[in-house]
Amino acid sequence: MSEIKRVYYFGGKSADGDGTMKNLLGGKGANLAEMCLLGLPVPAGLTITTETCMAYYANDCQLPSDLMDQVWKGMKKIEEAMGMKYGDPNAPLLLSCRSGARASMPGMMDTVLNIGLCSATIPGLIQKTNNPRFVYDSYRRLMMMYADVVMEKAEGLEPTEGKGIRKVLDEILDEFKHEKGYKSDTELTADELQMLADSFKKTIKKVLGKEFPDDAHEQLVGSIKAVFKSWNGKKAVSYRRIENIPDDWGTAVNVQAMVFGNMGDHSATGVAFTRNPATGENVFYGEWLINAQGEDVVAGIRTPNPLNDDTKNEQNKHLKSMQEFMPEIYKELCDIRNVLEKSFRDMLDIEFTIQEDKLYMLQCRVGKRTGTAALNMAMEMLDEGLIDDKTAVMRVDPSQLDELLHPIIDPNSEKKFTPVVKGLPAGPGAAVGKVVFSSEAAVAWKKRDKHAHIILLRKETNPEDIDGMEVSSGILTSLGGMTSHAALVARGWGKCCIVGAGALEVDEVKKVAKIKGSNVVIKEGDVVSLNGTKGHVYMEALDLMDATENPLFQHFMAIVDKYRTMGVRANADTPKDARQAVEFGAEGIGLFRTEHMFYAKGAEEPLFHLRKMILSKNEEERRKALDDLFPFVKRDMKATLEVMDGMPLTFRLLDPPLHEFVPQEKAKQEELAKALGIKWEDVVKRGEELHETNPMMGHRGVRLGITYPEISEMQIRAMFEATAELMAEGKKPIPEIMVPVTCDVSELDVTKKIVDRVYQEVCTEMKIDKIDYLYGTMIEIPRACLLANKMAESAEFFSFGTNDLTQMTFGFSRDDASAFIHDYTSKKLIPADPFQTIDQSGVGELMEMAVVRGRSARPKLKVGICGEQGGDPASVAFCFKNGLNYVSCSPYRVPIARLAAAQAAIKFGK
Ligand code: ADP
Ligand code: MG
Ligand code: MG
Repeated sequence: MSEIKRVYYFGGKSADGDGTMKNLLGGKGANLAEMCLLGLPVPAGLTITTETCMAYYANDCQLPSDLMDQVWKGMKKIEEAMGMKYGDPNAPLLLSCRSGARASMPGMMDTVLNIGLCSATIPGLIQKTNNPRFVYDSYRRLMMMYADVVMEKAEGLEPTEGKGIRKVLDEILDEFKHEKGYKSDTELTADELQMLADSFKKTIKKVLGKEFPDDAHEQLVGSIKAVFKSWNGKKAVSYRRIENIPDDWGTAVNVQAMVFGNMGDHSATGVAFTRNPATGENVFYGEWLINAQGEDVVAGIRTPNPLNDDTKNEQNKHLKSMQEFMPEIYKELCDIRNVLEKSFRDMLDIEFTIQEDKLYMLQCRVGKRTGTAALNMAMEMLDEGLIDDKTAVMRVDPSQLDELLHPIIDPNSEKKFTPVVKGLPAGPGAAVGKVVFSSEAAVAWKKRDKHAHIILLRKETNPEDIDGMEVSSGILTSLGGMTSHAALVARGWGKCCIVGAGALEVDEVKKVAKIKGSNVVIKEGDVVSLNGTKGHVYMEALDLMDATENPLFQHFMAIVDKYRTMGVRANADTPKDARQAVEFGAEGIGLFRTEHMFYAKGAEEPLFHLRKMILSKNEEERRKALDDLFPFVKRDMKATLEVMDGMPLTFRLLDPPLHEFVPQEKAKQEELAKALGIKWEDVVKRGEELHETNPMMGHRGVRLGITYPEISEMQIRAMFEATAELMAEGKKPIPEIMVPVTCDVSELDVTKKIVDRVYQEVCTEMKIDKIDYLYGTMIEIPRACLLANKMAESAEFFSFGTNDLTQMTFGFSRDDASAFIHDYTSKKLIPADPFQTIDQSGVGELMEMAVVRGRSARPKLKVGICGEQGGDPASVAFCFKNGLNYVSCSPYRVPIARLAAAQAAIKFGK
C-alpha cells in the first residue's frame, strides 16, 4: 500500500501544496504554501494535514505510526533551506508549531514558539547570535507556552484555583519586573532572563508535577500532539458551535522555522490588514512592535506602534511608525501587500516578522471585516477592476447586511452629551446597554432577560470570553489595539466595539471602572452608550437612528437585483410597514395579517366591534357587529393596498383563535354587556365558553369561517370594495386572498363559494367588469403538504406558513419551545433552531413534496413562504433550490433576503 501523504513541505519559492488546498492543509498551511509560490519571503516549514488530526482522534489520541517519519524527512528540507539543524548544539534550528483549521478560528487553538531550545542547544545559539538576552527571552517564552499548551491544557489538567500555569508564570515575571522597577519586558537583561528561566522551571515542576522537557525531539512531538488536542479545547469547541463549524474538519499543524522579532532594535513583529477592516477604506492598516515576538502585538502588553501615517490615532501617534523607522522594509511590505491583493483579489490579514532588518511573512488570510467594510471594499474592488460584479455580490455575507441597517447614534442626541472616555473605534455602529464586567455575568443576564441590552466591559477580552461577547450588544475594553482579540471578534460578528479606552481603570473583581482624571465611576448595571464608529463612550442612553445613508448600499443592491431571480416580498400589516418594506426593495406583501389591526394603537373602536362580534349569541347579532366592524377593516385594507400600488398584496383571512380577543378587564366587559344588551355575568360566561385547551390547534383560521361564514364574507367584501374603489381612482391594486390553516381542499372550496358570490355582488354594485385577484392558501399543516395536488385544484397559490408547519411537523409548540430548544441545539440533537432556519430534512421535505405535488395539478402554481424563516439566508437558498417564486419576510430583512436570493441564483442557478 502506498503511504498516505501526511506532510506537505513549503519553503523558498516552492511548495507541495497551494492556496486551494484549505480543506487538507488548513487555511494557514494552504496560504503559507501559496505565499511561497508567489515568491514571498516565508520561513520554510511543513504542514501536517487535517486528515492526520482526524486519524489521531480515531486512533485514541495516538499519532499515526507513519507520521513522525514523514516529519523528520520534511525536516531535512527545512534544515537545508535554513542552513541550520534541529537540535544541533552549534547552529540550532528552532521551530514554531501552529494550528490552522480550514476556517480561521483566531486565537481559539494553540501555538508554541521557539521549540528546540534546551540545555544542549542554548550555548550554541548564544554563540551563534552573540545575543544571550535574545536566547533567554526566547527560552522563557517557550517555557510559558509549552507549559500552558502542552503540559497543562493538552493533558486536560484543571488549573488550581482557576489559575493556569501561564498566569502563574506571568505573575512571577510581573513581580520580577516590579522589584526591578521595569515597565516593559524589553528592559530585562540576559542574566535576569536566565534567572527567570530557572525559576520557571522549578515552578512548572512544582505546579504540574512534571519536568519541562529538556529535549528538542520530545518538545516537537509534544507540541504536535498538543495542537491536535487543542482542536477539542473548550474555547475551540465553543467557537465552532457559534460559527457552525463542523467538528470533523480537524486542524492542520504547521511546523515552521522560527524567525525572530526579538533580536533587538532591528527586529520587530507586526500584523496588518491590506485595507481598513472597520471602514473598508483602501489604506494599509496595521500595528507593529520593535523587539518583540509573536503574540505581543495582539496581547495588549505594550501599546503597539502604528504601521504608518494612516494608522495613527490618539493612543499611538507619539510612537514611531514603520514607515518612518524602517522605510525600506516598509516599502517592501507595501509591495507584498499589492502582490497579495492582486493574487487573492480580496482584503487580507497578514502577520510578519523582521529579523535583523530582514522581512518574513508568517501568515495571510482573508481578513474579517465589518458589514460596512465588506460592502465598501466589494464596491471599490469592483471599481478597481480587481473583481467582477458577481464576485462583489458574493463578497457580502447576507447576515452582515443587517449591520448596515442597524442603528447608529443619532448625531443630534450625541451633540447634547460629552463622552466620558474615548477609545479606538474597533467595531462601528452603536450600542446602548447595561454594563457587566464578566462574560459569565453577560450570559446570566441575557438568560434572565432575553431582551436585555448588555455592554461587556473588560480590561481586554480573550478567547474564554466569546460566549459573553456573543450575547452583548457592545464591547468596551480599556486595553488593546485595533487588532486585539476584542476588535477582531467584534468585527467578525459586526458588533459595536471600542477598545483601548486607556483612561478606564477596570476592576473586574469589584465590578467597577473608574475614569482617570475624573470622578466618574461605572458600576455593574449602569447604562452606557457606545459610538463604535468614533470610539466615544457616554454615561447616558443616547437616541439611535437608521444607518442607510451609505450611497454605495443602493448601488450594491442594484447589482444584487441583477442576479436575483426569485421574488422578495415583506410581511407587513400597516401602510407604514408597507412603505418601509418598499423602501428596502420589497416587491409585494406576502402576508398581511388582518388581525393585527386590532392589536395596534388606536384600535379601541374596531376592537370593540370585534369583541361584540365574538360574543354574539346568534348570526343576527353577529352580522350586526360585523357591519359595524366592516368600515374599519375596509379602511385599513385600502390604505395598505394604496401604498402597494401595482404590487401584489396577500391578505390573510382572520387567523387566531377568537378567545385571544375576549376582554379580561371588568370595565371593558361591562361596556360590552351594555352594547349587547345583556348582563355582565353573561359576557363573562360567553367568554369562558370560548376557552380552549389547545388553542393553537383549536377553533382558528379557516375553521372560523367554516362555522361563521359571515366572518369571512365581511373580510372578502372589504377587500373587493377597497380594490374596486382604488381602481376607480385610477390605481392598480393587486389583491390576493389567502386562507389560513387549511388541511383539505374542501375548506378551500367552501370559502371560494363565498368569494365568488361576493365578487359578483361587488362588481355589480360598483359597476365594473372585472377585478384581478388570486385565490390561494397558506400551507402550514402537514396534511396539506401531503394533499397538495388536491389543494392546488382550488388554490392558485401556496404560501408556506413555516412557523406553524414547523410546530405541527415537530410537535414543538412555537410558544413553549424556547424552554427546551436550546438543550436540543447545544446537545446537537438538531443542527439549529427550526423556528429560525428551515429544518431542511424534515419540514423542508414536506415543502418540497408540496411544491412538486401542487404543480403537478397546476403547473403555474405560484409558491412562496411567509414564515419567520423567509428572511434567513440559508432558508432563502433552500427556497430558491426548490423553485419557490418568492420569499416574504419582515421589512428589515428584505435586503438580506434579496442578497441571499441573488447569491443562491449565482451558486445554484442554471
Ligand atoms: P494564530 O492562529 O492564533 O494567529 P499563529 O500560529 O499565527 O497563531 O501564531 C501565533 C504567533 O506566533 C503569531 O503572532 C505568529 O506571527 C507567531 N509565529 C508563528 N510562527 C512563527 C515563526 N515561525 N517565526 C516567528 N513567529 C512566529
Ligand atoms: Mg496567526
Ligand atoms: Mg399560521
